[in-house]
Amino acid sequence: MMKNVKALGLFSGGLDSMLAALVLREQGIQVTGLVWVTPFFTSEKAEESAAAIELPLIIEDFTDRYLHLLYEPPHGFGKWMNPCVDCHLLMLREAGKIMEAAGFDFLFTGEVVGQRPFSQNKGSLNLIAKKSGYGDRLLRPLSAKLLKMIRPEQEGLVDRDRLLNISGRGRKRQMELAARYGLTSYPVPAGGCLLTNPGFSARLRDLVQHLPQAELRRRDLELLKWGRHFRLSPSLKVIVGRDERDNEALERLIRPGDAVLRTLDYPGPLVVIPQAPPEADLTTAVVLCASYSSAPLGEPVDLTLAGRAGETIITGQRGPREVFQEMLL
Ligand code: SF4
Repeated sequence: MMKNVKALGLFSGGLDSMLAALVLREQGIQVTGLVWVTPFFTSEKAEESAAAIELPLIIEDFTDRYLHLLYEPPHGFGKWMNPCVDCHLLMLREAGKIMEAAGFDFLFTGEVVGQRPFSQNKGSLNLIAKKSGYGDRLLRPLSAKLLKMIRPEQEGLVDRDRLLNISGRGRKRQMELAARYGLTSYPVPAGGCLLTNPGFSARLRDLVQHLPQAELRRRDLELLKWGRHFRLSPSLKVIVGRDERDNEALERLIRPGDAVLRTLDYPGPLVVIPQAPPEADLTTAVVLCASYSSAPLGEPVDLTLAGRAGETIITGQRGPREVFQEMLL
């Protein structure tokens, strides 16, 4: 290498991102990983994998810059609430800014041509490269020989001959490479992003349909991770803790303006009604809370209702839970 070449890679911590970093490092390039964090994907896996290959890792939260993609992603959603094309684009655009500010020579990712039908076919990879604004400085080391040559290759910063031509959904080539690099443990490929989780996506879809983007707070997204969610009316959503862990998590997420129900005489769930409108009729929520308590069917259940007007005691009747099924998100 003529100079000290530095590359910045989107690093999810999956095997492909590890291999992409190692392929470049083998050429003597100084590689650094970058992981973006939101309430939907954490840096945990990336941190573990980076530590395993001694890769310096930059961790950045970009939730505020991400939220608009939950409402109207220009390239649409995948199977669930995952705006993968726009998510990649945003990650690359933001990574490009860091690359320029911190003096990296180019960007790289562990993407493989043909690996995912929606976001990693050749057309999507080319589109993403072009639309990110950094197409001529974006390298995919695992599939580079199948893609057009980019500037760092032309300038001799990267040796194209030592890059790869992996394509498709098979993992055989990656496994062989992993063995060659002595990687014995690495995370499984799928999972990690809540936006591809069907249950979470259903709750998120309901949230964005009922809450304008300007009013969406990080707390609203954190609430989606806990409890059963019931949509009682356009302005009323009720969250019922399923167990002690849910109840504790929900407790931490309560904010002024919420209404909160707790059973008194019988063990029961913590019930949170986020930003309950002052005029809201909470009768159904009270019955819902009583019905998820351990009181016998038909028994009256005393509850505390804490809200804008202070705390009151209220009674609801334990009913059959099945009647709430169609309101469950
Ligand atoms: S799976 Fe999640 S993190 Fe990955 S690109 Fe899609 S939306 Fe982004």
